[in-house]
Amino acid sequence: LDDRDGWIWHDGEWLAWREARTHLLNHTLHYGMGCFEGVRAYAGADGTHLFRVAEHTRRLADSAHALDMALDISEAELIEAQRQCLARNGLTNAYLKPTVFFGSEGLGLRAKGLSVHVMIAAWDLGDYISPEAASIGLRALTSSWARHHVNISLCRAKTNGHYVNSMLALNTAVKAGFDEAIMLDPEGYVAEASAANVFLVRDGVLHTPEVTSCLQGITRDSVIRLAREVLGVEVQERRITRDELYTADEAFVTGTAAEILPLRELDGRRIGARAGAPPPDHPIPQDALTARLQHCYRRVTRGELGDDLQGLRHWLTP
Ligand code: PMP
Repeated sequence: LDDRDGWIWHDGEWLAWREARTHLLNHTLHYGMGCFEGVRAYAGADGTHLFRVAEHTRRLADSAHALDMALDISEAELIEAQRQCLARNGLTNAYLKPTVFFGSEGLGLRAKGLSVHVMIAAWDLGDYISPEAASIGLRALTSSWARHHVNISLCRAKTNGHYVNSMLALNTAVKAGFDEAIMLDPEGYVAEASAANVFLVRDGVLHTPEVTSCLQGITRDSVIRLAREVLGVEVQERRITRDELYTADEAFVTGTAAEILPLRELDGRRIGARAGAPPPDHPIPQDALTARLQHCYRRVTRGELGDDLQGLRHWLTP
């Protein structure tokens, strides 16, 4: 990823992509204290736009504040820098990664006198998951790795160091032949996937874990609002057990990169078997709530608003 043309924004300046380096004694490299976002831009019918960039930028500022890393740049300036990052790199469909990290003034855990830096890199990302793969979805394994506890880490902050836990879970599942890990919280309730939130559908109602161990996902919020406000579906945020996922009519995971991906099988149980769901290697039915939400989400992210989605135009920043 480091050997390519392009520009990376760093503390208000533009660095040529290949020159964008930091010192080996960088504090964040050693201890993992930093935070970041994953934001997407889409080429819409009426031009390129960032999707929910204000919410992502607010989460970044909140993460930095919760970690006690002082940002001396406003959210408005960060949004403008993300817009510039797309323009300067000539990107339309793209993934942006704004990141807040410490400097290299010292390695002490007191983090005294450390400078705080911000960088934004962006690269081309069309359909991260092809439409065919998005209708097939995932086979997952419940992970033996528990998700974070609110008294061990800051679950609402999107912190670099949290992703050690995500990678342990994902890579254990992948080595065992699965696509994804479902992680439980330290009390054994469903938390989320390795880097995505989880939903289940039962008797027409959508359920998702409350925000304790899981990240407060922005796609999670988009899906809740599309379900309630556009499709008129009831949504409950509550504690969920793994057997509720086994016996759900449908289940799916959500995230900025993955968007909405059906969860077809968990620990060898076919999800939706009782409701007549097709085998996990066949596409989900188009009238399933998962497919209807995918369709709505695809339209709103690509700026195909129509009358039903006009109220969500403020999610798009040109
Ligand atoms: N949980 C974790 C641990 C994640 O890394 C992500 C991806 N940012 C999500 C959930 C989904 O969040 P979002 O919808 O904001 O991308």
